[in-house]
Amino acid sequence: MITNECEQVFSLYPPAFARKPKTLVEQLTVIIVDFEPGSTHLMATVATFCKHYPFIKLVIISETILYPPLKLSTKCNVHVLTTHSDPRKKWLDSDPLKHINSEYVMVIPDSVIFDKGTRLEHIQFSRIEEKDIVLVSLITNPQLIIHTCIAIDWDIRHWTLKFRRKETYDQCDFHDGDFAYLMKRKILEQLNIPFASPFPESFAIQAVFKGLKMIIEDDLKFFTMKIAGVDQHELLKAESLKKWKLSQLYHRFKVKKVIESDGSEHFYGCTKETPRCFSSIVNNTPEYLYWHRWTPPCCLENLRTTARRVFSVFEQCEIRYWLEGGSLLGAARYGDIIPWDFDVDLGIYEEDIAKCPILSYARKQPVKDDEGFIWEKAVEGDFLRVQFSEINRLHVDIFPFYAVDGMMTKRTWFKDHPQDKEFPEFFVKKLKKIPFVGVQASAPTNVTQFLEYKFDEEFPDLK
Ligand code: ZN
Repeated sequence: MITNECEQVFSLYPPAFARKPKTLVEQLTVIIVDFEPGSTHLMATVATFCKHYPFIKLVIISETILYPPLKLSTKCNVHVLTTHSDPRKKWLDSDPLKHINSEYVMVIPDSVIFDKGTRLEHIQFSRIEEKDIVLVSLITNPQLIIHTCIAIDWDIRHWTLKFRRKETYDQCDFHDGDFAYLMKRKILEQLNIPFASPFPESFAIQAVFKGLKMIIEDDLKFFTMKIAGVDQHELLKAESLKKWKLSQLYHRFKVKKVIESDGSEHFYGCTKETPRCFSSIVNNTPEYLYWHRWTPPCCLENLRTTARRVFSVFEQCEIRYWLEGGSLLGAARYGDIIPWDFDVDLGIYEEDIAKCPILSYARKQPVKDDEGFIWEKAVEGDFLRVQFSEINRLHVDIFPFYAVDGMMTKRTWFKDHPQDKEFPEFFVKKLKKIPFVGVQASAPTNVTQFLEYKFDEEFPDLK
């Protein structure tokens, strides 16, 4: 029974005339999630449920207050729980599981037709084990059941979720298809956000960490109202709504990159219009290292883009530049930015600045180029910086060096960077191209010797 006055309660008890097996009533709660407000499917589903199973508790979990409200007979055991924020509600009362006390739950979308063929009475609960998720196919045509077995690799260190299509149907983390999900209630209790939308994807990615077993129930199938010939406009609307909900879900779980089962890659992190994904660097250590994560993939990608922009401008101006410090180390080891690094460092000949109008100008005041990159003098000292954008401050640092008695020196030094020191000019007298961030970037001719000189022959894991 739901007692919170903020909930919409349509009936409190099953009607007295219901003479159905008590065990089923006690054992099962049917939960409807993932529907659009005002859905005609929802009303029809609830109506068929009330007609055939008035004794079983049906809970509708909605992100908003239902409109138009459901008109239900008091003979139905149907409850609506809204999960939207309401300052009058207690946080504890907003947990839908507080209002569900049966041992088993079945989560369905709003389109299931409950009729005589649904046969909920035939479910053999005793066969469902602690970690089992029983999937009941939702079909519009018995001849046409399509689903794909997907493995999910959730690489937290790289903020990346990868969906892999499997050829066999064993050990699937996710069955991409239409299903009702039947399981012990306590499984939902173990999830971080059990009713997040879209439910199938949200459930599957959280289940990865729980060692659950997905079992397709062959003896039971439910018919649904998803019929052929649905309006194309409605389909597109539903698809973009699902995409938006997925992006919200990824945002909550700090997933910044998703590799779909078809191999396509999508980023859900920072862009030119948003701040970068990490806050200020303290003691040369970004916060994500404390979270046992490496640089978010969106930030790495935006750093690469900024570096390529700088290289291209330098090539045009014929500026002599070379990869410095951790960036050169990354190029030597990975041909890329070190996976946990947070900026790109370059050295240039100071006398070349005059050859490049944007660099000369940036020394005096910040300038936005025609691709939205910000060129400016760094606040920390006498060097230049190119930001990915005004708000997203991922950047490339450019250190101007000049030669004194055969040694390259500069005006600003970082005490917490032991490798930040003068070096003989012969290292950069002649430069060569090496692979870095997907292009050929300029580097000292003898990369290993230069790195050994800078890092005192120690190549540290962190710069
Ligand atoms: Zn980012």
